[in-house]
Amino acid sequence: MDVAFFTAWIQEIVRVLAVNRDVLTRLDAAIGDADHGTNLDRGFTSVRQAMTETPQETPGQLLTLVGTTLIRRVGGASGPLYGTLFRQLGKSFGDAREVSLDDLAAAFAAGVEAVKRLGKAAEGDKTMVDALAPASRALSAAAQERVKPEDALERAATAAAEGAKATIPLQARKGRASYLGPRSIGHEDPGAASAALLLSALRP
Ligand code: ADP
Ligand code: MG
Repeated sequence: MDVAFFTAWIQEIVRVLAVNRDVLTRLDAAIGDADHGTNLDRGFTSVRQAMTETPQETPGQLLTLVGTTLIRRVGGASGPLYGTLFRQLGKSFGDAREVSLDDLAAAFAAGVEAVKRLGKAAEGDKTMVDALAPASRALSAAAQERVKPEDALERAATAAAEGAKATIPLQARKGRASYLGPRSIGHEDPGAASAALLLSALRP
């Protein structure tokens, strides 16, 4: 997987987020402040602009730029958290021009750890971590089993989607939704839903 592969991922994220902006904002309206879709749409639109202005030569450079731009441009909790995820991917890839499925799985695991550290969230707290962590485990398992990259990415996307749906019966323990206490039960977490969209955009 080279810089073109990751550029295509980000372009697909931009497209998928634009399509799902209102869905995400409605989820955030139920248990937050109704800005998650617009936050991410604005952030990734800036990312696309930054990518065109300064073409990046390696996956690491590109993903670091994505993370930095998200931190700078997305107001709200999700900006620094997703920014940290992408910056960690970039850091893990280093100067490599080409990364393997093993590299991606290891980088993703480090990225999810960084998100958990920053947000002080564990699985089950009803956050993006509930989609990211199962996706990371699926990716690592698939890499170990030496399955084809496209199947590995498919499994990661499925795990993320299942993890997002599994937030519905949970009570939020982190972020704005936690202020609602038991009233946060019965709604899908917007950040888990957007994490599932990010993973669904990752394909060869
Ligand atoms: P804000 O809550 O500041 O309005 P967003 O609406 O953009 O920010 O993002 C909300 C999402 O961010 C939540 O649905 C949740 O998934 C995620 N989130 C919030 N706080 C945390 C945290 N401490 N750790 C992990 N994820 C979090
Ligand atoms: Mg919000």
